[in-house]
Amino acid sequence: MIRIKDIPLPPRHNVSQLSFEAAQLLRVSNSTIRKVKIVRRSIDARKKPDVKYNYTIDVQVNGNEEKILRNSRCKKASIAPWTGYKVKPLKNPDVSRPVVVGFGPAGMFAALVLAMAGAQPIVLERGEDAESRHEKVQKFWQTGELDVRSNVQFGEGGAGTFSDGKLNTGVNNPRIPWVLEQFVLAGANEEIMYDAKPHVGTDVLLHVVQHIRNKIISLGGEVRFNTQVTGLCTENGKLTGLKLHNDATGENSEIKVDGAFLAVGLMPENEPFAALDGGEDGLIFYRAILRDYASLVKPGGLILLEMAFDQAEDLKRLAAEYLPMASVEILRDLGGNDRVTHITLPKD
Ligand SMILES: Cc1cc2nc3c(=O)[nH]c(=O)nc-3n(C[C@H](O)[C@H](O)[C@H](O)COP(=O)(O)OP(=O)(O)OC[C@H]3O[C@@H](n4cnc5c(N)ncnc54)[C@H](O)[C@@H]3O)c2cc1C
Repeated sequence: MIRIKDIPLPPRHNVSQLSFEAAQLLRVSNSTIRKVKIVRRSIDARKKPDVKYNYTIDVQVNGNEEKILRNSRCKKASIAPWTGYKVKPLKNPDVSRPVVVGFGPAGMFAALVLAMAGAQPIVLERGEDAESRHEKVQKFWQTGELDVRSNVQFGEGGAGTFSDGKLNTGVNNPRIPWVLEQFVLAGANEEIMYDAKPHVGTDVLLHVVQHIRNKIISLGGEVRFNTQVTGLCTENGKLTGLKLHNDATGENSEIKVDGAFLAVGLMPENEPFAALDGGEDGLIFYRAILRDYASLVKPGGLILLEMAFDQAEDLKRLAAEYLPMASVEILRDLGGNDRVTHITLPKD
């Protein structure tokens, strides 16, 4: 594919024009252009009132791409980067079913990929399905009555489901077109594939997330709502199970797992349990960092460990144990509390 950037078109235009523009820019006949795919569309209002649409397109041509590109001498054109993410089927489908905790965007797409790979994931979500959740949210907005189990934060679709449905990400990743494609296959407008500020809309998003859930189920996955993970079961430091609480029935249970994908969101009370469980003395992660990863830091480099206000002595002791040649300083926060262990490794 050949990518052509910065093709300006007036506000009133027909997208079929892009094919002619491509032919002109690549200096080929119209019949050489086999297919045009819009990659991005933005509005250029820098020179008001001369407002324009600005397109980036990928062009499939009849003939040798490299040669056409060379002959065109078009500075806006180049070979399109790879974006063809495909889910690979699992090599060994007999492994135990993976468990995904949380059914917001992160959990939903993890479960979708696992389902498409044939792994039949089990999803555990503390909130309700989108439809029941919608009713609870409407009730909250009308009466102020909050259901702590099912609300704008918790449930199918995750935290942003009831906002206006703009798709924002600060990440530049070749899998993004694949994610957008899944939204479109589940009912979102095709324009999100190329709009610079893609917008699904809450009303559509509610159906889209249910579609994605049904796809996961149709591929052998399972989605359990009202199922909150309340703790981890471990043996010899290895995760063996999850403790569950069913908010609807009040029932407690356990599920055996070989591993789990925690996608519980960013709210402080939802910190991944592993991050909260520092072992018997609260130092398990610090010990692992100093013992296993300090060798990755260059001689003379720094290791900064954020810590609780009462852990300074423990961390000084650990640093002396694992990195006896390093110099250690304790830094305080603005409140005067010990906050960071600042370890400088020896220069050689
Ligand atoms: C009000 C609001 C509006 C937003 N608007 C936008 C927007 O317009 N566009 C945009 O791009 N982003 C928006 N965001 C940000 C976006 O919602 C988040 O970036 C995104 O939801 C994060 O996805 P996630 O899957 O990591 O976490 P979440 O969406 O938070 O999903 C976590 C899921 O895990 C479940 N869960 C939590 N704990 C447990 C547990 N112990 N056991 C089982 N399940 C659990 C929760 O119920 C939840 O469904 C908005 C966020 C908020 C709060």
